[in-house]
Amino acid sequence: MILSQKESENTTEPQEESKTDIIITEIIKNRGILNSHYDCFINSAFQALLCVNEFVDYYCENNTFIDSDESTTINHYLTQDSHSEKCYSSKLKEFITEYFSDSECPIWNKKFRTLFDEKYHPSQQHDASDFLMCLFEILQNEHNPTSTTFISSGHENGQDAWQAYERDHISIVDQLFVGMYETVFTCCECEKEAKVYEEFNSVPIECHLKDQNKGFKTFIESSEKQYSQMNCEVCYGQQNCTIQKKIIKYPKYLILVFQRFDSSTNSKITDPMDFHTNFTLQSPKNNPISYSLFSSILHSGSLTSGHYTSICKRGSNWFEFNDCSFKLISNSEVKTPNAYILFYKQDPSELQIA
Ligand SMILES: [Zn+2]
Repeated sequence: MILSQKESENTTEPQEESKTDIIITEIIKNRGILNSHYDCFINSAFQALLCVNEFVDYYCENNTFIDSDESTTINHYLTQDSHSEKCYSSKLKEFITEYFSDSECPIWNKKFRTLFDEKYHPSQQHDASDFLMCLFEILQNEHNPTSTTFISSGHENGQDAWQAYERDHISIVDQLFVGMYETVFTCCECEKEAKVYEEFNSVPIECHLKDQNKGFKTFIESSEKQYSQMNCEVCYGQQNCTIQKKIIKYPKYLILVFQRFDSSTNSKITDPMDFHTNFTLQSPKNNPISYSLFSSILHSGSLTSGHYTSICKRGSNWFEFNDCSFKLISNSEVKTPNAYILFYKQDPSELQIA
């Protein structure tokens, strides 16, 4: 039986579709992913990514959500590399296509897993967040036409910086998951500002209970003001300065990572973290930006002996995936103290650049 079912994007109010509107369809399909040894860190990350319709569309179909010129370019890269044994995109495409095929059986991820055997040895435990970022970097490298490094300074403002970044970063990962930080260094002597821009694909959230008093949204909107030293071009030489970091480009899909692994003590921070399933932030242009949770990766156990599962919203229902099995869960079970990585989608009516 084919479980796939297409629904148009949910909107709160009926909207007229213009010819240029992109209709993103939602494919609802649940399958477990088999685990031979310690692959739960990969399986949980995949179940979260398979909730992202554009990501699935990109690999299953032919990039219907971007314009034809860009589509040709990206497909060219996919085709060109598809004969290579080391092409991650083509193996990923095989895996995702099979996941959404007619079968309902749990799926093997062997071909794709093999590509990572060297970096993530199959007989050891690994970090799901580290894997996700590694996967993103590989897919960006395979799809972006040049390996040009983004120059972080010398931009007039956030919008200029983001446009410069976008020119060389057209990959599906960049389009969906990448945002941008602005860090302002202000000289304490003359108040001259220096701005630096950096892209990000996840936002770290501190996990100690004392940090939680600041509130969940504070972590996302801007960092705490820090004091350091800068080389001021007005005062000449080293001066005391303040450093303030904030997001100037919110990604369509925002990934938050609770910093549960404390490398200084080599232990896991088990403090229960409170988070919102929906929240609204102030954008740089003072427009509100709303995000809704659609998936989370959970970690149970300790640093040396743990297990990853994921919670995913498919259609209007929530499911918990545990390697080869999955089950329907209630809305009240979505917020769990084991949450490690949270995946949010921006409200489509408020999508904005910088
Ligand atoms: Zn100065």
